[in-house]
Amino acid sequence: MTVHIKSLTLDELTALMSELGQPKFRAKQLYEWLHKHNATSYDQLTNIPKELRAQLSERYPLFDPVIINKQVSKDGTRKYLISLEAGSVVETVGIVDEDAEGNEQRLTVCCSTQAGCPMKCDFCATGQEGFVRNLSSNEIIDQLVVVERDFDARISNVVLMGQGEPFLNYDEVVAALHRMNADEGLNIGARKITVSTSGIIDRVYDFIDEPEQFRLAISLHSAIQSTRNKLMPGLTGQPLEDLHDSLLEYAARKNRRISLEYIMIDGVNDSKKELEMLLAFCDGIKCHVNLIPCNPILHKNYKPSSSSTQNHWVHTLSMNGIPVSIRYSKGADIAGACGQLKEVHKKSQV
Ligand code: SAH
Ligand code: SF4
Repeated sequence: MTVHIKSLTLDELTALMSELGQPKFRAKQLYEWLHKHNATSYDQLTNIPKELRAQLSERYPLFDPVIINKQVSKDGTRKYLISLEAGSVVETVGIVDEDAEGNEQRLTVCCSTQAGCPMKCDFCATGQEGFVRNLSSNEIIDQLVVVERDFDARISNVVLMGQGEPFLNYDEVVAALHRMNADEGLNIGARKITVSTSGIIDRVYDFIDEPEQFRLAISLHSAIQSTRNKLMPGLTGQPLEDLHDSLLEYAARKNRRISLEYIMIDGVNDSKKELEMLLAFCDGIKCHVNLIPCNPILHKNYKPSSSSTQNHWVHTLSMNGIPVSIRYSKGADIAGACGQLKEVHKKSQV
């Protein structure tokens, strides 16, 4: 794999500048352009000599991500299809809302970590599409840069809930998290960055060892093994019992609340028994349950649970002392859940 200039540390850039006969301060200038201003073309580096820009661009080409489709929802949500290096296309979403107190406008970006996804979840458009490749940390950051520029606003929150399973691309994802969080990077607080995983258990333990306070969301979708096997066939060898143990460890070591994501699908994972098992799963874990009414996807007959079932679940979970909320998809008028924007784009092309 070719080395990307944004992967070089300040020390490595300093060595590079000396090799190219440049003064030392150029390294710092360059570093700021690349990481603070997130330059996507050497033409943007106005205080760097033209000749050096040409040398760099030959040795370390910078890639300018392209928005190939953008839809804007009535609620202000913008969904993008972004073409990255080697022509891979991913989905990224920008969501504007207010903080819990209703005081501050926030810009939350939902970004992808893989092109496609190998996990094959039965309810997920991306899972149905299959896996293309892992994204590099630069490509993960580039999605944020595209959204930040398009909104002309600072990103306050990031959720890794777009396409892909972040824990199957652990090293690049963690490198991207560090760059999002770094003062000399995007400077987004670790507590404002959430990684969502379908539950790759060894990587949950690795994530516990990360010193930063990044948030963790687990896509549970059922606390009954047989239902989960059907909904999430890519998770063989990752039993619920072991996942539960890893979350107990997380609770003990991190003292942070984990989000448990639960897509509610009518007649599939919303029975009385499913609710009982979910309550048992939550026992001992410091968690917040996010119930997500299922969005329909092409070629599948899944419908969201009825509002009375949703309300009953909210009521029962709260009565048992478990914080719970219903998460409706933002931008539902333009294309709801994960994978759908790409699906719609493809449909309009045929
Ligand atoms: N692969 C990781 C990261 C995000 S997946 C994970 O599974 O946690 C994309 C997100 O879209 C997940 O939160 C998933 O629960 C949600 N999603 C996928 N298909 C959906 C559908 N049909 N309806 C509602 N949410 C869906
Ligand atoms: Fe992959 Fe997440 Fe979709 Fe499952 S829900 S297929 S893990 S992106």
